Amino acid sequence: MSEYKGIMVHAELREKELAPVTLELLAGGRKVADQLGDELSAALLGHGVKNLAKELIAYGADKVYLVDHPLLADYTTDAYAKALYAVLSKHKPEAVLFGATPIGKDLAPRVAARLRTGLSSDCTELEVDVQNRLVVGVKPAIGGNVMARIVCPRHKPQMFTIRPKALKPLPRDDSRTGEVVEEEVELSLSDVRVRRISFVKEVVGEVRLEDAEVVVAAGRGVGKDYLKLVEELANLLGGAVGSTRPLVDDGLLPPTTQIGQTGKITRPKLYIGFGISGAVQHTVGMQDSEVIVAVNKDPEAPIFDLATLGIVGDVREILPALVSRIKEIKGS
Ligand SMILES: Cc1cc2nc3c(=O)[nH]c(=O)nc-3n(C[C@H](O)[C@H](O)[C@H](O)COP(=O)(O)OP(=O)(O)OC[C@H]3O[C@@H](n4cnc5c(N)ncnc54)[C@H](O)[C@@H]3O)c2cc1C
Repeated sequence: MSEYKGIMVHAELREKELAPVTLELLAGGRKVADQLGDELSAALLGHGVKNLAKELIAYGADKVYLVDHPLLADYTTDAYAKALYAVLSKHKPEAVLFGATPIGKDLAPRVAARLRTGLSSDCTELEVDVQNRLVVGVKPAIGGNVMARIVCPRHKPQMFTIRPKALKPLPRDDSRTGEVVEEEVELSLSDVRVRRISFVKEVVGEVRLEDAEVVVAAGRGVGKDYLKLVEELANLLGGAVGSTRPLVDDGLLPPTTQIGQTGKITRPKLYIGFGISGAVQHTVGMQDSEVIVAVNKDPEAPIFDLATLGIVGDVREILPALVSRIKEIKGS
């Protein structure tokens, strides 16, 4: 166990660029590494992506292990698991962080099983038990009713997947320096059972909720007939529609719109919430928004404790008025 040193991040890519979650993982990894007095490295797997190493360093990595291979040009479970397993077995980091994205959720368990270690999935926070040199994965459990703290004390590396947007990237610092270590991993076509034939982008409205700079969220106080206006306002502002759980439970909006403990975590520049009371299970998914505007007819609604601007009033009056005023401004 004492051979294991340092914290490592899996540098997930999105079409030859670093995926946004990679920058978030670097921020989380940097914090953990600093608390443990350790080094932070990134495993960068791909083909023709060496240029991204300096970006990983600018966002917090001390070292980048680069595996460049034509068979890593597209993500496949087989090739990536083999290459990452080779890097982890050789360099033995104490902890490895992945995004809780489709790729991270596919890759992390497979590599953890090969390494015979544990994986805490879907964490929203990381804590450090410095005395025992343990990284603690914090995640909602039992349907979100408790926050579980998960440790992996008897096996290394300790592995985690972390929800996108749960951590905030560090500001880019191009003056940071680090080392790039090129790794040779043997991969052949027979290792890879899957080939990418084409790439079809998922269509999820104009803007993905997790990436949106503006979120217009609907709660139970928005009557069914007014949901169209919420969508219209989101479109007018170039944003995405968010929701609370009751609307999803009632089938009024799709589960991809749910914000909160059992939904998505958002960090937009502007969040506007209509008819939302401000239950903690919702606010954990939007409380880090830069500006929060809340519309609720109840002046005691807890959402107002968080709001930058609170409007006490009826959604049925304020929403149409806001939409028509914005249209007017845009028109002129
Ligand atoms: C384990 C667990 C996990 C959960 N996870 C999530 C989660 O991920 N995300 C989530 O959102 N919730 C989640 N919930 C549910 C959460 O506890 C709340 O019930 C939910 O967030 C409340 O949604 P709401 O604010 O839309 O509804 P309500 O709490 O019913 O609030 C509606 C608000 O609308 C206002 N209102 C009503 N009519 C009008 C009007 N005409 N004009 C203006 N205001 C009006 C009311 O004053 C009220 O404040 C979870 C619950 C549990 C138990």
